[in-house]
Amino acid sequence: MSETSPKLRAELDGIPTYKPGKPAAAGGPVAYKLSSNENPYPPLPGVMEQAISAAGVFNRYPDMACTGLMNELADRFGVPVSHLATGTGSVGVAQQLLQATASAGDEVIYAWRSFEAYPIITQISGATSVKVPLTAGEVHDLDAMAEAITDKTRLIFVCNPNNPTGTVVRRAELERFLDRVPGDVLVVLDEAYREFIRPAEGEGGGVPDGIDIYRDRPNVAVLRTFSKAYGLAGLRVGFAVAHEPVAAALRKTAVPFGVSQIAQEAAVASLRAEDELLGRVGSLVAERERVYRGLVGQGWTVPETQANFVWLRLGARTLDFAAACEAAGVVVRPFAGEGVRVTVGENEANDLFLRTAEAFRKEM
Ligand SMILES: *Cc1c(COP(=O)(O)O)cnc(C)c1O
Repeated sequence: MSETSPKLRAELDGIPTYKPGKPAAAGGPVAYKLSSNENPYPPLPGVMEQAISAAGVFNRYPDMACTGLMNELADRFGVPVSHLATGTGSVGVAQQLLQATASAGDEVIYAWRSFEAYPIITQISGATSVKVPLTAGEVHDLDAMAEAITDKTRLIFVCNPNNPTGTVVRRAELERFLDRVPGDVLVVLDEAYREFIRPAEGEGGGVPDGIDIYRDRPNVAVLRTFSKAYGLAGLRVGFAVAHEPVAAALRKTAVPFGVSQIAQEAAVASLRAEDELLGRVGSLVAERERVYRGLVGQGWTVPETQANFVWLRLGARTLDFAAACEAAGVVVRPFAGEGVRVTVGENEANDLFLRTAEAFRKEM
């Protein structure tokens, strides 16, 4: 065998590997997976039925244009089909956005800590990450992000609510930021947890709906996913809403036939069952408030969260806390030296987590 190996792009050196949330221990006592921000509810029977019927033709390629889903999304969100693009999860779409905008020598700005896929997909594109620290309150520092823009900037992620802190930016500050971004820089509003925000805009909460924002801003793209509120994480389907040249570029950079027919039909069925699914989201939001208040009552400092998870900045105690949770039967997501993100799950899982956090706190 030859000693040489195929030449790989130097950009791939040192790419951090995406750490999936740890699975709940098999065969252990009770074990709950609160590490991946998944929806704890099982698929709705009607959605399952659609998925199973689509599975009956998986010898065929899916509809490459995702016609049924695109039409349904266009109706639901009041946008033209030409402003939509689908992909294998919204991470897939985010990667397409980078492929469409950035390469070696370019810069991509995002808050840090934020979604761990951003550094990975940025590095794969060849562009350089410019990470702007969150404020002391764990919120995007939009002023600092605006100041970080250079003539090399091609794309800026704003994760709202932010993963893993759950914090949000509000309309006025977001608009002020967008006014400062040059028109040739794409701003991506990643709204994976949009449905969990309370109160919704119009009810006085002031957290903007990206789809309102994008309408008169050609340099804004909105990312949404079926993985969280709609409970289709395993099927890999997400979408972007963006103006024509950007949406068209997304269709060019998509993996052909990336979104399976099963995913497409389950997504359509989910949009049609939205009342029921959003009812479940309401229950999760109530649980989130219970977990948040429980932690605050125990004396923890917890940033106010608008997503389906809470963030505890544990610093040097992070891994010990995660180990204590795991020993108790709850798997959480540690970021070593920084903190722990805990998904809001089944009521019993949340109870178990709260008891574990309380015991840990007493020993601190
Ligand atoms: C979970 C998540 C996504 C969505 O991932 P999918 O690829 O759609 O499953 C996107 N952005 C953020 C910030 C997330 O936390």
